[in-house]
Amino acid sequence: MTYELRCRECQKSWGNQPRSICDECFSPLEVFYDYDAIRPRFTREKIAQGAPNMWRYSALLPLPENFRPTLPVGFTPLLEAPRLAKQIGAKNLYVKNDAVCLPTLSFKDRVVAVALAQAKEFGFDTVACSSTGNLANSTAAQAARSGFKSWIFIPADLEPAKILGTQIFGAKLVRIAGSYDQVNRLCSQIADERRWGFVNVNLRPYYAEGSKTVGFEIAEQLGWRLPDNVVVPMAGGSLITKIKKAFDELILLGLVAPKPVKFFGAQATGCSPISTAVKAHRDEIEPQKAATIARSLAIGNPADGHYAIKAINESGGWAEDVSDAGVVKSIQLLAETEGIFTETAGGVTVGCAAKLYKQDRILPDETTVLCITGNGLKTTDVLAGQYQAEAAIAPKLSEFNKYLEAVLDGQVEAAETVEV
Ligand SMILES: *Cc1c(COP(=O)(O)O)cnc(C)c1O
Ligand SMILES: [Zn+2]
Repeated sequence: MTYELRCRECQKSWGNQPRSICDECFSPLEVFYDYDAIRPRFTREKIAQGAPNMWRYSALLPLPENFRPTLPVGFTPLLEAPRLAKQIGAKNLYVKNDAVCLPTLSFKDRVVAVALAQAKEFGFDTVACSSTGNLANSTAAQAARSGFKSWIFIPADLEPAKILGTQIFGAKLVRIAGSYDQVNRLCSQIADERRWGFVNVNLRPYYAEGSKTVGFEIAEQLGWRLPDNVVVPMAGGSLITKIKKAFDELILLGLVAPKPVKFFGAQATGCSPISTAVKAHRDEIEPQKAATIARSLAIGNPADGHYAIKAINESGGWAEDVSDAGVVKSIQLLAETEGIFTETAGGVTVGCAAKLYKQDRILPDETTVLCITGNGLKTTDVLAGQYQAEAAIAPKLSEFNKYLEAVLDGQVEAAETVEV
């Protein structure tokens, strides 16, 4: 085997099993690799021969020997974003667009794909998760395709599109009258009692490795070059640490030239335990009660918060947070400048990035990547009231010309440009 679980703190080896915590010191487990064994299999040339999806990086993912992927997950576009750049004081700006990740339009498809590969290996017939929405969609969809039964636990009041987008796949959906943090605690207890593969509980170390593919792709799509800065939305705080791990691995294996990359974390002000700690120069999380429209990021007690803070600080980066009103304006700004419709989490990323440029923490000429992690069609409720239904006009040219004149005269309100 080229990988195994080890404790992040005491380094004890746990082999490969469905487990996320070290019994000796209660620290999280992480996947460690035998890099010398992997080195010959993980080269630019070998990767280029792979399919245009996240499986081209399989040599550095914890996958069973006989695993054969059947879903083209990942390899989402990395887009130049010159019009957005102009609006927020940037010059060299890119958007990593996981709003169009397959199969369920968020970056969670990457983590679920790896977790389910291991769920099969460990012999589970049922998979499960606690979710703020996107993980629910992805686990339900991929479970259906891979022939697992699925049990999905969510806070009762999630966005309707995320609830429907779970039920459609035939998953058993359990709505809990409580916060995500309470849902997650309950799932840890259920995982102790039942032989179910909880993708983000007992399979969490494997799940988390799937996020590395965002980092691998950014580097490859920049022509095997690392950016100067990455801005990443944070919920549990896993994604940001894994993009960093991906960059570190690419340097270690010689696929990119060594280069310091600054990591910037983004949260909504109404749930910002990680950003608050970074801004206060603390290295531990003070749990918060979440109150924000950015439901996918609403984790008050983030499992990887401590490591996210560490990754940000060690890189020389920073963290910011943005109000709910700022999230909505940022969703509109990204849509109007670059034609990308993101969910609330993407609004958080764009809004925080705008602040970071304003603060000169990110400089215009630096190469900066914004991670857009989810799709706007799942959170349309936050845009209610932003757009009026226009009055209908008769299908006649004369009617249209009258209407046009009224718009030009300002009698009918034309679409406004938004500012963050
Ligand atoms: C889950 C999620 C995140 C954050 O992921 P973590 O690894 O938990 O920090 C970001 N954006 C979206 C859309 C998500 O669903
Ligand atoms: Zn330990």
